[in-house]
Amino acid sequence: MRKNEYTKNYDITIVGGGLAGKLMLAVLINCGVFDQDKLCWINTDNENFKDVRVSFINYKNFIKLKKRIQLDVYSKDYSVIEKIELHNTNEKYPLKLKDLNNHGIIIRNDILKQNIKFSEKKIDIYRSKVISTKCDEFNRYLFLKDGTKIKSALVISADGSLSPLRELCKIKYLNNNLNHTIITGYLECKNFNNSTAKQIFLKDNFIGLLPLNDEKNLINFVWSIDNKILDTNKINFHEKIIQMLNKFFLKNNLIFDSPKSKDDKFKRVQTYPINVKFVNIPFKERIILIGDAAHTIHPLAGQGFNLSIEDCFDMVKCLKNAKIIGKDFGTLSLLKTYNNIRKTRKNFITLATTLIFYVFSKKNNQLNNIINYGIEKIEKTSLKEIFKFLAKGY
Ligand SMILES: Cc1cc2nc3c(=O)[nH]c(=O)nc-3n(C[C@H](O)[C@H](O)[C@H](O)COP(=O)(O)OP(=O)(O)OC[C@H]3O[C@@H](n4cnc5c(N)ncnc54)[C@H](O)[C@@H]3O)c2cc1C
Repeated sequence: MRKNEYTKNYDITIVGGGLAGKLMLAVLINCGVFDQDKLCWINTDNENFKDVRVSFINYKNFIKLKKRIQLDVYSKDYSVIEKIELHNTNEKYPLKLKDLNNHGIIIRNDILKQNIKFSEKKIDIYRSKVISTKCDEFNRYLFLKDGTKIKSALVISADGSLSPLRELCKIKYLNNNLNHTIITGYLECKNFNNSTAKQIFLKDNFIGLLPLNDEKNLINFVWSIDNKILDTNKINFHEKIIQMLNKFFLKNNLIFDSPKSKDDKFKRVQTYPINVKFVNIPFKERIILIGDAAHTIHPLAGQGFNLSIEDCFDMVKCLKNAKIIGKDFGTLSLLKTYNNIRKTRKNFITLATTLIFYVFSKKNNQLNNIINYGIEKIEKTSLKEIFKFLAKGY
């Protein structure tokens, strides 16, 4: 095809090679309803890059992935989380959450992504970034950096938190800078129970501890730190987090250390700025946002990708209904229906995680005592169900 010509007419084009984009394509293909040579994927990701961060996946979402896209991961590659413990400064004891089955699993992102499988044979894949877009009554057009011009009835954009397509299409959103930075990496801890995930709320620092199912006792940490502390201290991240955790868990006899693994990828730490992005209406003519492009939240409850999993399944539900009645995939009514299905859950998770962030980050001694008193009461009441609901999925 010459670069100045448009591609064939695609039914659906997916933008983004992250977890949400790849899963969207897998769900579309695995449901067996859509014409595969009318699907297009813009994936500029380097297949050799290993994202060794981990994801907590809710029990219900994990079951859906197994059933609907035949996700088949070795049990050695994930840990099953039976208990979640929420710890707070000066606590009497942590809030312990248990669920009927289990809460979900913890898996490395690279292993998860590698196991999201589908046949790529019939799909047209383009490896160049989208730099511009326009639309008419029947199609959305995407212009790629290498000169390719794509024509599609619907574009599903999973282009991440910074979402260039959200900007290009002038889709409005609220952006709230939390003035925290996320630092993530690995630690070792010998007697850490690998069926328990922990979230620890310390002053200016929140730490999520997510155990791997691994004989080296590796624990992934997701540490959210106030930028004031980060800016004023030139800190060694491993040293600082080990110091905080060993002090906090002295009473529990848990001792954390740097990873001894020879593998460099477990020794690295990564940092991310964290802005909450709330997109009330995540669509425009013939384009809809999913994944982090549609909702970026604080990772303290491990729900960002869980929302994306739900996005993919709900999107396919709407597209299948359209296919049955021969409706155009890009109509505004379809995009509105999808948004109506998604908005309650998306709003709830965004609000809940942001509220938890503010309650724990703005606390003084008095507020902290109230929180600890509340946690003791929650332990005895059905309010605990709210936290379970947050972790469970829907
Ligand atoms: C430290 C940390 C821990 C987390 N832990 C959890 C957890 O335990 N559980 C959970 O559910 N969630 C978790 N999350 C959130 C989760 O990782 C994200 O929600 C998820 O990875 C987002 O996936 P995505 O595909 O939407 O975006 P991304 O992974 O950002 O992918 C965006 C894609 O779009 C592509 N792209 C961008 N611009 C263009 C363009 N112009 N043209 C073409 N392609 C483009 C990029 O190349 C990339 O492939 C965590 C997040 C962080 C930071």
